[in-house]
Amino acid sequence: MAKKRIIVQKYGGTSVADPGKIKHVAKRVKECKDRGYDVAVVVSALGKTTDALLNLAAEISSDPVERELDMLMSTGEQVSVALLAMALHEIGEEAISFTGAQVGIITDSSHTKARILDISTKRIKEQFAKGRIVIVAGFQGTDPDQEITTLGRGGSDVTAVALAKVLSAEVCEIYTDVKGVYTADPRTVKNARKLENISYDEMLEFASLGAQVMQARSIEVASKFNIPIHVRASFCDEQGTMICKEVKKMEDVLVRGVTVNKDEAKVTVCDVPDKPGEASRLFACLAKANINVDMIIQNVSRTRRTDISFTVHASDLKRTQEVVKEANKKIGAIDVKFDKDVAKLSVVGVGMRSHSGVAAKMFGALASEKINIDMISTSEIKISCVIRKKDAEAAVRVTHKAFGLNKKK
Ligand code: ADP
Ligand code: ASP
Ligand code: MG
Repeated sequence: MAKKRIIVQKYGGTSVADPGKIKHVAKRVKECKDRGYDVAVVVSALGKTTDALLNLAAEISSDPVERELDMLMSTGEQVSVALLAMALHEIGEEAISFTGAQVGIITDSSHTKARILDISTKRIKEQFAKGRIVIVAGFQGTDPDQEITTLGRGGSDVTAVALAKVLSAEVCEIYTDVKGVYTADPRTVKNARKLENISYDEMLEFASLGAQVMQARSIEVASKFNIPIHVRASFCDEQGTMICKEVKKMEDVLVRGVTVNKDEAKVTVCDVPDKPGEASRLFACLAKANINVDMIIQNVSRTRRTDISFTVHASDLKRTQEVVKEANKKIGAIDVKFDKDVAKLSVVGVGMRSHSGVAAKMFGALASEKINIDMISTSEIKISCVIRKKDAEAAVRVTHKAFGLNKKK
């Protein structure tokens, strides 16, 4: 007998926010099954459940143990898989729900940001053989000691892509509350355009730089195994955006999109003695404390002292303050400044590899709105500027327009 084709579908929190939406999702899953596919469905927790669970934890403890956070957060997805299975039963479909542990999603032991090591397909395939739809809780797994882990915020995307890989699915469909990946967040830029396709490299930069629509790690997995992803709306049938391997003609477009990240904070260590080993001392302390540093800027010194600025994730700022103050006892910088009111604006596009003038256009656009640039960093396919947080939305809009990304009227 010919093997049946498999599709993995993932529905995000907003797509399963209430019973009505869950019933609607059940219908969409059934449609896919009716087209002759075996369907594995990954679901996130209902609406903002994960945030609510984290808020509850915060009311109990200012520094909860990460193992217990995972115990808590993983309950969200267990609710949604069971409800979706019931909704499918109500419309006459055979469906069964599983937690990450039940389906054999094995991760490493880094609580709250675990990486998937292996997924067993045995149970899923047994259920497919019985003609059932399989529903898997996103965002969770267990480590080799059977401890429950979670995969980082937005982690259901990783569950879906990894399942698509091990099941050799035809496509991984990501259903969300927008119609695809846009040239900018459609909530900020009303005339942002939906992209027909975007390369893995561009989507990875886009996601890492703040475009919440896909979780960055899921794109790393998809790119490594060449898994096609279709990002689309759960509320309509329209074709969404394909995330795929780069093709030559993608380079014709200078900038694919604009994004902004408001979750960073800037640290400036002022008047550091300009001698070998000082930067190393500072960043070694940060590394030891497991603090991820993003942009780093140091200028040439004219006075034998220099300023070093860098950015960290805002949630790491408190720890960074402690570490930098401690490190400074050895370094002897004159002052340290911490700034939470920053945002990082980025433009992304593989076309930058072969075209010049992107930086000039971006800086010109910001200047036209009198938006000051604090820091700049570039890579082969992106340019990022740190600006004031209050300017974030205006900066996205003016940059989006400057690169001609607006919808054609
Ligand atoms: P889900 O709950 O389905 O996982 P998310 O909230 O994680 O949904 O991601 C969808 C959101 O991502 C959209 O509502 C949109 O506001 C935001 N977003 C940010 N940048 C973009 C972009 N460039 N294209 C599409 N959506 C974006
Ligand atoms: N529920 C988890 C979160 O809110 C995972 C996800 O939505 O993908 O981060
Ligand atoms: Mg998401």
